[in-house]
Amino acid sequence: RLTNDVGEVENTISSSFSVFFKEPITLIIYFIALLLLSVKLTIFTLLIIPISGFVISFFIKKLKKDSKEVSNYYGYLMSIIDDSLTGIKISKAFNAENYILNKFIDTNNHFTKITRKLVLRREMASPFSEFTGVLVASFILLYGGSLVLKNESELDASQFVAYIILFSQILRPAKALSSAITGMQRGLASGDRILELLDASVEVTDKIGATQASSFSKSIIFKDVHFSYTKKKIINGLSLEFEYGKMYALVGPSGGGKSTISELLPRFYDPQGGEILFDGKPYEDYTASSLRANMGIVSQESILFNDSIYNNILFGRSQFTKNDVENAAKIANAHEFILKAENGYDTHIGDRGVKLSGGQKQRISIARAVLANPAILILDEATSALDTESEKVVQEALDNLMKNRTSIVVAHRLSTIRNADVIFVIKDGILLDKGTHDELMKNKNGLYYSLATMQENNSNLKES
Ligand code: ADP
Repeated sequence: RLTNDVGEVENTISSSFSVFFKEPITLIIYFIALLLLSVKLTIFTLLIIPISGFVISFFIKKLKKDSKEVSNYYGYLMSIIDDSLTGIKISKAFNAENYILNKFIDTNNHFTKITRKLVLRREMASPFSEFTGVLVASFILLYGGSLVLKNESELDASQFVAYIILFSQILRPAKALSSAITGMQRGLASGDRILELLDASVEVTDKIGATQASSFSKSIIFKDVHFSYTKKKIINGLSLEFEYGKMYALVGPSGGGKSTISELLPRFYDPQGGEILFDGKPYEDYTASSLRANMGIVSQESILFNDSIYNNILFGRSQFTKNDVENAAKIANAHEFILKAENGYDTHIGDRGVKLSGGQKQRISIARAVLANPAILILDEATSALDTESEKVVQEALDNLMKNRTSIVVAHRLSTIRNADVIFVIKDGILLDKGTHDELMKNKNGLYYSLATMQENNSNLKES
């Protein structure tokens, strides 16, 4: 939409614009000249205009809808190409090149079909307007000519020839107008798609009079929070408290809503029911950006940008020096591998960080969070995508990062959160249980106990 549709609007709307100003004036002038020559003949020609207008509108009626379909499909085609290229290794590994290729061919064939349909419709309008023009000219020639020959006309022969020549001249502006109208339909369809993007609503907007949250000092409290992305309830009346300076863990079966809680914390979404309090006042009283300024996030997938390692850590925060960046990298256990990289801190990491290992990417994400020095740290399964060896280095980096902070850790591996001050057990969007590791392990019928023993057995199996 950002490139193709904008180009389409530029090509159609802006080029049609001058036609809409120029050609009607030309047409009017020609008609005045024709009227001066012969009122009778000119009224006869004017009768034909609504008829041809009706037929042309038949062709262009569906043009906007078709244009939209073609643009949408073009976007889909592009996403297939993008997927095929980024997933090229998996396609090869599963010998699925033909599947991917056929998917592309099918999509491309359909794209060709609907584009052809659109072009046919669009191009029909112009020859048709020409055809009606010629048809009218023939009728004038027959009707007017017979009048002249019978000497019944107000025109003599030479004036009639002049009339016919003048009439033939109105075909050009009429044709330009009809193709501008059809082009305009395409542009309007693209314009709609661009406006849809520009008008897309933001999930969270600051209310008028929202203030800046000061630095975190007491607690974040979830009070009977209800939340759903679409229809299905994900968080179902949840009440939790995160106190300043403590370490919290969210555990429970997958799909229970742990990541959703970690997205409600930085106010990426507002809950539909209940409220979240920041140091005793509702989240809505504060601007989202000032709440986020208190938080650092490290997620499961390290989000890196195609830039140097240095810029990925600094991330536009120009108040920090090179020294700060290096210190952050040291805390994140990243300094050494960065120095070994081709150009040290200036090494470009490639698209989405393809040139780095999973553990290295994660340590750069951690260095980025260290640099922010946030009061509240949110870790969403930050080590779950890593192998055991890099998990260890990354976990060390995370432990460094969590020191003297409030941290909220979404954990899959329970061994990493054993020393949390409070562990919340979440299932189906409700709080099932809470307590320290030792407290929760006492309840042999509890979910935590069964998860912990299951994981312990698994790791014993692996070791033996
Ligand atoms: P957990 O972290 O405990 O595995 P999540 O919070 O990721 O659970 O997901 C809880 C539920 O919310 C899942 O059923 C998931 O499909 C759904 N979900 C997560 N993110 C979205 C989203 N952006 N839009 C719609 N549903 C979502």
